[in-house]
Amino acid sequence: MRLVIKVGTSTLAHSSGKLNIRRVEELCKVISDLKNAGHEIVLVSSGAIGMGMGKLNLSARPSDMPTKQAAAAVGQCELMYTYDKLFSEYNHTVAQILITGDDIENDERRFHFINTMERLIELGALPVINENDTVATSEIAVGDNDTLAAIVAVNVGAQLLILLTDIDGLYSADPKKDSAAELIPVVEKIDDAIRSHSGGTGSSLGTGGMATKIHAAEICMQRGVDMIIANGSSPSILYDLMDGNGRCTYFKGVKA
Ligand code: GLU
Repeated sequence: MRLVIKVGTSTLAHSSGKLNIRRVEELCKVISDLKNAGHEIVLVSSGAIGMGMGKLNLSARPSDMPTKQAAAAVGQCELMYTYDKLFSEYNHTVAQILITGDDIENDERRFHFINTMERLIELGALPVINENDTVATSEIAVGDNDTLAAIVAVNVGAQLLILLTDIDGLYSADPKKDSAAELIPVVEKIDDAIRSHSGGTGSSLGTGGMATKIHAAEICMQRGVDMIIANGSSPSILYDLMDGNGRCTYFKGVKA
């Protein structure tokens, strides 16, 4: 199976912005194993700004553009250094791809992106994608990695996108505030009722939240790609998800 896995900053880093070593080690181990089992995997990883924040000892996520871009420049190095080191332990080679919304909207650049992705997958490398935050100003940015991951999934012809986050999936209400909130296991269609469950933003480190995940689901489903939202706190959940089990919300792509 060809699949795209997206990990959010809340999965990769502690609230201090420093790397969650135990979790990232487990994530790299499980992804390596799934690759060994024959799956073609593309990783969309957030964490550049969050990790830059940690490295530069900033106490809060920067809100102004130059500091965000500076933090991303520092954090992206740290991120790729970490992936390179951990995936190497399992004999997997990582490749860094940084794109912006502009690269996808422009047909020629999108064509080159797809060609490079195909070749990397053919060569057995693991593409690790992030928004090119150091140059992505609001006019040209995709803006959040849930949407970016959905765009990547439909462009590389993935069958499945898995969004790993800090919650088990889409709930009928905010589970932090409402004890009667229930996990919605399957979504076949995005309608106003589903959108109304999408609530506000996520953690203080990342960009997304449920709204961007529902938007990602819309992009995927329209193009026949299935999407899962699951909790990345224990990355071995990826094994269960690949077996069709595991606690999650499953968004079914529309099949022609
Ligand atoms: N590209 C951002 C980063 O690496 C993350 C965007 C997001 O959290 O959706 O920090």
